[in-house]
Amino acid sequence: MEFKSISCAFESLDLNMLKDAVKTKYNDATPLCYLHSYGCQQNVSDGEKLKGLIAKSGFSFTSDDALADLIVINTCAVRENAHERVFGRLGELKHLKEKNKDLIICVCGCMAQQKHVAEKIKESYPHVSLVFGTFAYSDFYKMLYEVIVSGRRVFNIEEKQSEIAEDVFQVRSSDFKAYVSIMYGCNNFCTYCIVPYVRGRERSRTVDAVVDEVKGLVRDGYKEITLLGQNVNSYAYGFPELLRRLNDIEGDFWIRFMSSHPKDATNELIDAIIDCDKVCSHLHLPVQSGNDEILQRMNRRYTVDKYLETVEYARKRCGDFSFSTDIIVGFPGESYEQFCDTKALLEKVKFDNVYSFVYSKREGTKAAELEDKVSVKQKGLWLRELLLMQHEITEKWLGRFVGKTLKVLAESAKKQDGLLTGHSYENIIVEFEGDKKLIGSFVNVKITNALNWALFGEIIR
Ligand code: SF4
Repeated sequence: MEFKSISCAFESLDLNMLKDAVKTKYNDATPLCYLHSYGCQQNVSDGEKLKGLIAKSGFSFTSDDALADLIVINTCAVRENAHERVFGRLGELKHLKEKNKDLIICVCGCMAQQKHVAEKIKESYPHVSLVFGTFAYSDFYKMLYEVIVSGRRVFNIEEKQSEIAEDVFQVRSSDFKAYVSIMYGCNNFCTYCIVPYVRGRERSRTVDAVVDEVKGLVRDGYKEITLLGQNVNSYAYGFPELLRRLNDIEGDFWIRFMSSHPKDATNELIDAIIDCDKVCSHLHLPVQSGNDEILQRMNRRYTVDKYLETVEYARKRCGDFSFSTDIIVGFPGESYEQFCDTKALLEKVKFDNVYSFVYSKREGTKAAELEDKVSVKQKGLWLRELLLMQHEITEKWLGRFVGKTLKVLAESAKKQDGLLTGHSYENIIVEFEGDKKLIGSFVNVKITNALNWALFGEIIR
């Protein structure tokens, strides 16, 4: 199957042509779109940009897929179970298409960018009308127009490095927390990761473009700005400098960012985080393994010692600096002894939070071809061992905050007990009693208790 030949027939398209086509198809009523994004923050942010394009085409949004005229499934390719969930979801949507022949079902994002996935959808899910990958967002109006006007199925997974579009209208899912992409793509080719194959090479936005977007968000009342990139440390115009520029923007807000690659985590980055009061005092630094041989086979290009030097530098400048990390358990060929090196690293660093997963094979990556003798069940037991150990470390380590007052962004109210919950400046979950009206604002919370996943406290007025 040749996808490159399946491109859009409408090479130049005025947005008004699309809006007219939408009006005609839906008899001047406003059609509804249901959009769901799987996976990481970058994908959620892509979904918000896509919602902007869809809104401009004349659609409103619904959270009920049964009411929708357009269903968009924005997929993630990082983990195997995400694949299974998407195919399961597409199977379910068949019934909605049977009830409503005019329903347009669209699959996009990282998973759709993979040729074997697009082929599978083409053959096995005929109720899906539009499939496009991560390189085709700029063609969205043309693709939707073609589906609406011609009724043909459109597949667009051609790889093309296009210029980054600026001033993109986005429909953001929160009115106090915002994602700002500062770069796209990745050049690192870690052997387990599919991202460089589905999101292309690194492209950075200019400093001025990022600063302007953040200024606009602060003016609109956003309190938390999260800068996004597959590896923000390789931002082409200097990431520590960008943080310092953003810190100079006036207003009551703070800045987070993700993700950072340990090979590029410099002392300048740590200095910028600690020096800039609006940059949250926390670094998510995915180490993946505590064994140099495994790190080499993952093509991570740093050693355990280099990682520890970064941690030591930060803790020298700020004794209880907060780190979190990602761990892959059971990388192909990993022995129990090598896994124990990861446990030893966790003991040394004392992370506030560890996101750990059993290795998940991604078709098309180098690691997928490596011999893997340890069973999934065994890897599951290793994971459990690691989590139990980390729970103890977290509980003790979070105890350093008891008695202190932390700045917290109140984010939501829990259904079970009505407690407000949010994240502190150090990126720790904090729960406390308070009025729901506080959601979306900063509060000071005196910490009274620490468990292995959160802090608890009382608001200080
Ligand atoms: S840095 Fe490695 S893990 Fe992160 S997106 Fe790039 S290839 Fe994937």
